[in-house]
Amino acid sequence: MRTGARGRSGRASPPSSSSSAARPGRGLGRFFRRGSARRGQAGAASALCLAAAIVPSFDGGRAMDHLSAQVAFGPRVPGTIGHDRVRAWLREELDRTAARVEERRFRGENGLTGGTFEGINFRASFRPELAERIFLGAHWDTRAWADLDPDPAKRMDPVPGASDGASGVAVLLVLAEAMKRNPPPIGVDLLFFDGEDQGASGSASGFCLGARSFAASASLTGFAPRWGVVVDMVGHRRLRIARERHSVDCCADLAARIEAIGRRLAPEIFQPSSIVYLYDDHVPFIEAGIPAVLLAGYGFPEWHTTSDLPAICSEESLAAVGAVLLELIYGGHEMP
Ligand SMILES: [Zn+2]
Repeated sequence: MRTGARGRSGRASPPSSSSSAARPGRGLGRFFRRGSARRGQAGAASALCLAAAIVPSFDGGRAMDHLSAQVAFGPRVPGTIGHDRVRAWLREELDRTAARVEERRFRGENGLTGGTFEGINFRASFRPELAERIFLGAHWDTRAWADLDPDPAKRMDPVPGASDGASGVAVLLVLAEAMKRNPPPIGVDLLFFDGEDQGASGSASGFCLGARSFAASASLTGFAPRWGVVVDMVGHRRLRIARERHSVDCCADLAARIEAIGRRLAPEIFQPSSIVYLYDDHVPFIEAGIPAVLLAGYGFPEWHTTSDLPAICSEESLAAVGAVLLELIYGGHEMP
């Protein structure tokens, strides 16, 4: 991910009372379209009403295990042994949980060395029989060099990627396990992008290559979700999530819905008093006409350093983000 200019302060909605991530609902979900047009939603012309289902609880400890497992395999830089091992591990995890798993390959270019690599995106589908679908995405590669490390001698070392890489994958894998046990009321595709973080600082060209490849082929492959949410860098123990400008500009209603859930379930993490521009895997989807919102921590000091390790992460942060996504999927509400 690249950061952009930080913009003006956003408008904060008032906090509401907290509630448990797991609560009874009104039966597993039928859903239907509603005809009203929504403004500010690229590509979405109507809202979707979901009946409330039982909202599964999110196992933060399990997510932390998935995070640590990825880091233990080594850096997931395309073309390395750690990347190969996690590709196989991820495939195994998804085969265990999803109804259908696809791998999609693409050619990527390392923004620093100019060398090419074969990237692999995964699409894991839940309720593939349903036409109404959403997607949740995260990148599984890690950055080849720690260019922001305070020690100049370490700046060509790879980033371990506990928060920047493993955290988003870990959250999605726990969601996969929850959806296997509790089929979601809407079709859900989990997307795991490769080649997100191989760009040179200051240039967008080497970033988000897997998401760009996936989004570019969306119309050809019939991939037409109503919207998606990308999660990235959500493991830090002092996680803070701000408003993100591309997301708000594209998808004001969806971003507001996620923010409202976040402020209810984890007010210490969701702090929409500031707004940031983050170029991440959601942007290629927005550019392809698919509404997408980013849920990402930002500004943590270990970002793009060799200290992005499990020790800086917490299961509470992973659980908070996971609970928000489960509420979004199962909570029962009008969805943009
Ligand atoms: Zn990164």
